[in-house]
Amino acid sequence: MRIDPDRKLDFEDVLIRPKRSRLKSRAEVSLERTFLVPHSDKKITGIPLIAANMDTVGTLDMAKALAGHQIFTSLHKHYALDDLKAANISTDFSFVTFGIEDHDRIDGMMAALGADKICLDVANGYTEHFVDFVREVRRHHPDKIIMAGNVATPDMTEALILAGADIVKVGIGPGSACMTRAMTGIGYPQLSTIIECADAAHGLAGLICADGGCRMPGDVSKAFGAGADFVMLGGMLAGHTECLTAEQKAALKDDDMIEYYGMSSEVAMNKYAGGMAEHRASEGRIVQVAYKGDVKATVQEILGGLRSACTYVGAAKLKEFSKRVTFVVKN
Ligand code: 5GP
Repeated sequence: MRIDPDRKLDFEDVLIRPKRSRLKSRAEVSLERTFLVPHSDKKITGIPLIAANMDTVGTLDMAKALAGHQIFTSLHKHYALDDLKAANISTDFSFVTFGIEDHDRIDGMMAALGADKICLDVANGYTEHFVDFVREVRRHHPDKIIMAGNVATPDMTEALILAGADIVKVGIGPGSACMTRAMTGIGYPQLSTIIECADAAHGLAGLICADGGCRMPGDVSKAFGAGADFVMLGGMLAGHTECLTAEQKAALKDDDMIEYYGMSSEVAMNKYAGGMAEHRASEGRIVQVAYKGDVKATVQEILGGLRSACTYVGAAKLKEFSKRVTFVVKN
């Protein structure tokens, strides 16, 4: 056993110090970014927020709504190919998600959709098996953008980039519907995860997506301030019209509560895995969120908060933001 004596930080442990600025208004701030990726000559352009690949958030309706704001969606992996094809979603702003699965299926789906962004998502990205899988997917798809995770430390961020990931999804345990910390004791404070993994990724010309733990717009600013290239949101985008199935929409009342649940929760296991296997315990929570209406208003709040944060530190572009951020640690 060993104890790491360095203090590690979560979003709630810090604030961003205001700085003198030449900006007159938040309207002058540009949130759009263009990234080069390390493994192909592809570029990725947009506002670097990504709706989480959870079946209550990464929906086709969400992808349509967010693409209109130049925001990305990682579509959840339980859609049938025909549904994805029929939806005609923007490939510019959509990631197609897979777990560890058959390469023929991945190759077939990507070809049929004409999509160029792959999200390889497992709860625990620390296994050699996953690293080998990422390497193999890269071999099959030399010209695609690959995001892979989740991990929470620089060593594994580097391992995944070297294996073929362009973007490493970082976050073990911070999610609002996540019970990993409670059930296993495993985790890493998310702000420190972002700071340490961004440093590792950027050293290899790779990118990171900070996944989980943002509960309010200020947390999104802190994630970007810490060096995240992309920020993935689950709970903040849950409970909107775009999260609902057609049947749920038809029965909807304004004061309804909407169910948001982790993808390892009992609800998800019953839905997709034929129930909870005997050797497993649920690491996902079931949360009821009040119906929030269309996602547009929430998007405006998040982007408004981010623009304002950029203004407070004098960053005219999101690209400059983390360079201008000084965190102060609260007591
Ligand atoms: P949030 O934005 O709600 O704080 O976090 C969203 C993230 O939580 C997702 O992108 C995913 O990484 C993580 N997540 C989703 N479902 C589960 C689950 O059942 N268990 C755990 N441990 N994490 C989950």
